[in-house]
Amino acid sequence: MQWNGGKQGRSESSSSLIAKYLNGLCANIGSARGNRVAWSILERLGRFDRSSNLRYPISVFMDSSVPCTIYHILSDEYDLASSRDEFLHFETPYQILIATILSAQTTDRCVNQVTRILFSRYHDPASLSVASPAEVEEIIHATGFFRTKARNIIAAAKVLEQSFGGQVPDRIEQLLTIPGVGRKTANIVIHHAFGRSEGIAVDTHVKRVSTRLGLSCHTDPDHIEQDLLRIFPPGVWGDINGLFILHGRKICRARKPDCSHCVLHELCTYAEVNSS
Ligand code: SF4
Repeated sequence: MQWNGGKQGRSESSSSLIAKYLNGLCANIGSARGNRVAWSILERLGRFDRSSNLRYPISVFMDSSVPCTIYHILSDEYDLASSRDEFLHFETPYQILIATILSAQTTDRCVNQVTRILFSRYHDPASLSVASPAEVEEIIHATGFFRTKARNIIAAAKVLEQSFGGQVPDRIEQLLTIPGVGRKTANIVIHHAFGRSEGIAVDTHVKRVSTRLGLSCHTDPDHIEQDLLRIFPPGVWGDINGLFILHGRKICRARKPDCSHCVLHELCTYAEVNSS
């Protein structure tokens, strides 16, 4: 994709964004460090006036060439098309919906192991909607929170049957009415089942990589998603989830990020703070 870092998605004026974010900065790295990193980055971008002595978040002021560069570097590093096996396995919208609900707080590998059995027994919403909770719990036990998840996927199948004619709806607002479905799941289903992107799915990897890179100051996924939607153009929204997940699994790991071998090292606020 050709993307040269134009002004996509930046409709608010800089001054209103400054006013909006001045007091809420970078909770994840602390205000003193946040200031130091923001100052050095903004100095490099030519967007900093030391006399203003302001506290601010980074992504709001970030030149759109930075997210553009991050996207292109990660696209060169990871081949999403050939990495599909590393994500949830599915063949139908029903399967990606159920698999994504089950993926909360566990790995895609674990989900793939249980859905092989689950989908062979309950191959559509109609069969899952009348399943025995105890039997479903036993099948999905390894994914954790199995009672809640069993209740949710059976209830989801019932809603598909009763409200959507046994089909998975293709609008976010409709998906959000299904038990166990939040914005992350809805975004994943829209992208993988219907080939569109109305948002960016923010899971634990996307959250970690985004905040370490300074692309968001927030800790809750909905606000992080809004920050990402503002700085990345719609044409790449569908790829951001997969690229950030692969980077988070392989390099930017939760406990020990491998910053010295990271292709984003020069652009990363976390690396800048932790190398000084
Ligand atoms: S430099 Fe370190 S913290 Fe930053 S994205 Fe790379 S691995 Fe993550």
